[in-house]
Amino acid sequence: MAKLAMMFLHLVYPVAFGLLSSDCKIHSRKLILIQNKSLPIKVNIFAWRLRLDRLPARINLDGKGIDMNSCRCHVCDGDIEDSKHRFIGCLVACNLRMMIMKWWRLPNHPKDLPGLLLWSDLVGFNIISNLCFDVVVQTTFCVTWRYSNSVRFDSTHPRKDILGVDIKILSHSWILHRNNKVNPNWLDWLSYPLMACNNLL
Ligand SMILES: [Zn+2]
Repeated sequence: MAKLAMMFLHLVYPVAFGLLSSDCKIHSRKLILIQNKSLPIKVNIFAWRLRLDRLPARINLDGKGIDMNSCRCHVCDGDIEDSKHRFIGCLVACNLRMMIMKWWRLPNHPKDLPGLLLWSDLVGFNIISNLCFDVVVQTTFCVTWRYSNSVRFDSTHPRKDILGVDIKILSHSWILHRNNKVNPNWLDWLSYPLMACNNLL
Protein backbone atom coordinates (compact mmCIF):
# COMPACT_ATOMS: atom_id res chain seq x y z
CA MET A 1 0.00 0.00 0.00
CA ALA A 2 2.78 2.39 0.95
CA LYS A 3 4.67 1.45 -2.21
CA LEU A 4 1.61 2.17 -4.35
CA ALA A 5 1.13 5.54 -2.67
CA MET A 6 4.79 6.38 -3.23
CA MET A 7 4.62 5.36 -6.89
CA PHE A 8 1.54 7.52 -7.43
CA LEU A 9 3.06 10.53 -5.71
CA HIS A 10 6.31 10.03 -7.58
CA LEU A 11 4.40 10.40 -10.84
CA VAL A 12 2.37 13.42 -9.75
CA TYR A 13 4.87 15.26 -7.57
CA PRO A 14 8.38 14.44 -8.78
CA VAL A 15 9.76 17.77 -7.53
CA ALA A 16 8.58 17.17 -3.99
CA PHE A 17 10.03 13.70 -4.06
CA GLY A 18 13.27 14.96 -5.49
CA LEU A 19 13.86 16.63 -2.15
CA LEU A 20 13.92 13.29 -0.38
CA SER A 21 17.27 11.70 0.21
CA SER A 22 18.06 8.61 -1.79
CA ASP A 23 18.45 6.46 1.29
CA CYS A 24 14.77 6.79 2.29
CA LYS A 25 13.20 3.46 3.06
CA ILE A 26 10.08 3.14 0.92
CA HIS A 27 8.56 0.56 3.23
CA SER A 28 8.97 2.74 6.30
CA ARG A 29 5.67 3.54 8.06
CA LYS A 30 6.91 7.11 8.38
CA LEU A 31 6.63 7.55 4.63
CA ILE A 32 2.91 6.84 4.47
CA LEU A 33 1.06 9.97 3.43
CA ILE A 34 -2.00 10.52 5.62
CA GLN A 35 -4.21 12.66 3.43
CA ASN A 36 -6.89 15.06 4.62
CA LYS A 37 -9.00 15.45 1.48
CA SER A 38 -10.29 18.83 2.62
CA LEU A 39 -6.81 20.19 1.97
CA PRO A 40 -4.84 20.61 -1.27
CA ILE A 41 -2.42 17.75 -1.81
CA LYS A 42 0.53 20.14 -1.56
CA VAL A 43 -0.53 20.97 2.02
CA ASN A 44 -0.75 17.28 2.92
CA ILE A 45 2.68 16.74 1.44
CA PHE A 46 4.04 19.71 3.37
CA ALA A 47 2.88 18.19 6.70
CA TRP A 48 4.21 14.80 5.60
CA ARG A 49 7.63 16.30 4.89
CA LEU A 50 7.52 18.06 8.26
CA ARG A 51 6.92 14.67 9.93
CA LEU A 52 10.01 13.37 8.17
CA ASP A 53 12.00 16.52 9.01
CA ARG A 54 12.57 17.03 5.29
CA LEU A 55 11.68 20.71 5.08
CA PRO A 56 14.49 23.02 3.96
CA ALA A 57 15.02 24.67 7.35
CA ARG A 58 18.43 26.29 7.63
CA ILE A 59 19.93 23.57 9.80
CA ASN A 60 18.82 20.93 7.26
CA LEU A 61 20.31 22.87 4.35
CA ASP A 62 23.53 23.35 6.30
CA GLY A 63 23.58 19.58 6.89
CA LYS A 64 23.48 19.08 3.12
CA GLY A 65 26.60 21.20 2.74
CA ILE A 66 24.89 24.41 1.61
CA ASP A 67 26.66 27.47 3.00
CA MET A 68 24.04 29.38 5.02
CA ASN A 69 26.29 32.01 6.64
CA SER A 70 24.15 31.62 9.73
CA CYS A 71 21.78 28.88 10.86
CA ARG A 72 19.96 31.14 13.29
CA CYS A 73 16.29 31.95 12.82
CA HIS A 74 15.90 35.01 10.61
CA VAL A 75 12.52 35.83 12.16
CA CYS A 76 13.49 36.14 15.83
CA ASP A 77 17.21 35.28 15.97
CA GLY A 78 16.35 33.40 19.14
CA ASP A 79 17.70 29.98 18.22
CA ILE A 80 19.04 27.70 15.50
CA GLU A 81 16.47 27.43 12.74
CA ASP A 82 15.24 23.85 12.61
CA SER A 83 11.67 22.58 12.20
CA LYS A 84 11.20 22.41 15.94
CA HIS A 85 12.09 26.07 16.30
CA ARG A 86 10.05 27.23 13.30
CA PHE A 87 6.86 25.50 14.43
CA ILE A 88 7.28 25.37 18.22
CA GLY A 89 9.83 27.79 19.66
CA CYS A 90 9.67 30.78 17.34
CA LEU A 91 7.59 33.67 18.65
CA VAL A 92 5.35 33.69 15.56
CA ALA A 93 4.55 29.98 16.02
CA CYS A 94 3.86 30.50 19.74
CA ASN A 95 1.46 33.35 19.03
CA LEU A 96 -0.43 31.36 16.39
CA ARG A 97 -0.75 28.38 18.74
CA MET A 98 -2.21 30.67 21.39
CA MET A 99 -4.59 32.14 18.81
CA ILE A 100 -5.84 28.68 17.83
CA MET A 101 -6.24 27.67 21.46
CA LYS A 102 -8.41 30.71 22.20
CA TRP A 103 -10.30 30.48 18.90
CA TRP A 104 -11.24 26.80 19.43
CA ARG A 105 -11.59 27.32 23.22
CA LEU A 106 -9.06 24.65 24.09
CA PRO A 107 -7.56 24.48 27.60
CA ASN A 108 -4.00 23.89 26.39
CA HIS A 109 -1.83 23.18 23.38
CA PRO A 110 0.99 20.76 22.49
CA LYS A 111 4.42 21.71 23.74
CA ASP A 112 6.45 19.72 21.23
CA LEU A 113 6.48 18.98 17.51
CA PRO A 114 5.20 15.36 17.67
CA GLY A 115 2.28 16.58 19.78
CA LEU A 116 1.59 19.43 17.39
CA LEU A 117 1.49 17.04 14.44
CA LEU A 118 -1.07 14.93 16.33
CA TRP A 119 -2.99 17.84 17.81
CA SER A 120 -6.26 17.09 16.02
CA ASP A 121 -6.17 13.51 17.30
CA LEU A 122 -5.35 14.53 20.86
CA VAL A 123 -8.24 16.93 21.49
CA GLY A 124 -10.98 14.27 21.42
CA PHE A 125 -13.31 15.96 18.92
CA ASN A 126 -16.00 14.17 16.92
CA ILE A 127 -15.18 13.17 13.34
CA ILE A 128 -16.26 16.43 11.65
CA SER A 129 -14.62 18.69 14.22
CA ASN A 130 -11.48 16.54 14.05
CA LEU A 131 -11.37 16.91 10.26
CA CYS A 132 -11.85 20.69 10.42
CA PHE A 133 -9.37 21.16 13.24
CA ASP A 134 -6.78 19.14 11.32
CA VAL A 135 -7.33 21.52 8.38
CA VAL A 136 -6.66 24.44 10.74
CA VAL A 137 -3.49 22.86 12.15
CA GLN A 138 -2.09 22.00 8.72
CA THR A 139 -3.04 25.43 7.37
CA THR A 140 -1.15 26.96 10.29
CA PHE A 141 1.96 24.98 9.33
CA CYS A 142 1.82 26.44 5.82
CA VAL A 143 1.07 29.99 6.94
CA THR A 144 3.91 29.88 9.48
CA TRP A 145 6.34 28.58 6.88
CA ARG A 146 5.23 31.11 4.27
CA TYR A 147 5.61 33.98 6.75
CA SER A 148 9.15 32.92 7.68
CA ASN A 149 10.11 32.69 4.03
CA SER A 150 8.56 36.10 3.32
CA VAL A 151 10.60 37.67 6.12
CA ARG A 152 13.69 36.22 4.58
CA PHE A 153 13.10 36.75 0.88
CA ASP A 154 10.51 39.49 0.30
CA SER A 155 11.58 43.10 -0.15
CA THR A 156 8.68 44.33 1.99
CA HIS A 157 8.23 43.03 5.51
CA PRO A 158 5.12 40.78 5.72
CA ARG A 159 2.38 41.58 8.22
CA LYS A 160 2.47 39.38 11.27
CA ASP A 161 -0.78 40.74 12.69
CA ILE A 162 -2.98 39.24 9.93
CA LEU A 163 -1.65 35.67 10.06
CA GLY A 164 -4.47 34.55 12.35
CA VAL A 165 -7.08 35.96 9.97
CA ASP A 166 -5.29 34.30 7.05
CA ILE A 167 -5.57 30.94 8.82
CA LYS A 168 -9.28 31.41 9.52
CA ILE A 169 -10.08 32.42 5.94
CA LEU A 170 -7.86 29.87 4.23
CA SER A 171 -8.92 26.89 6.36
CA HIS A 172 -12.63 27.71 5.93
CA SER A 173 -12.22 28.19 2.19
CA TRP A 174 -10.45 24.86 1.76
CA ILE A 175 -13.10 22.98 3.74
CA LEU A 176 -15.91 24.70 1.86
CA HIS A 177 -14.56 24.05 -1.62
CA ARG A 178 -13.08 20.61 -1.14
CA ASN A 179 -15.63 18.83 1.00
CA ASN A 180 -19.26 19.00 -0.15
CA LYS A 181 -20.42 17.27 3.05
CA VAL A 182 -18.94 19.82 5.45
CA ASN A 183 -20.04 23.42 5.24
CA PRO A 184 -19.43 25.28 8.50
CA ASN A 185 -21.28 28.58 8.84
CA TRP A 186 -18.81 31.40 8.22
CA LEU A 187 -19.81 33.61 11.17
CA ASP A 188 -19.87 30.66 13.55
CA TRP A 189 -16.50 29.58 12.15
CA LEU A 190 -15.02 32.94 13.06
CA SER A 191 -16.43 33.08 16.57
CA TYR A 192 -16.73 29.46 17.72
CA PRO A 193 -15.63 26.89 15.11
CA LEU A 194 -16.31 23.91 17.35
CA MET A 195 -19.98 24.92 17.50
CA ALA A 196 -19.99 25.48 13.71
CA CYS A 197 -18.76 21.90 13.25
CA ASN A 198 -21.05 20.36 15.85
CA ASN A 199 -24.06 22.00 14.16
CA LEU A 200 -23.29 19.85 11.09
CA LEU A 201 -23.80 16.54 12.89
ZN1 LIG B 1 12.52 32.25 15.43
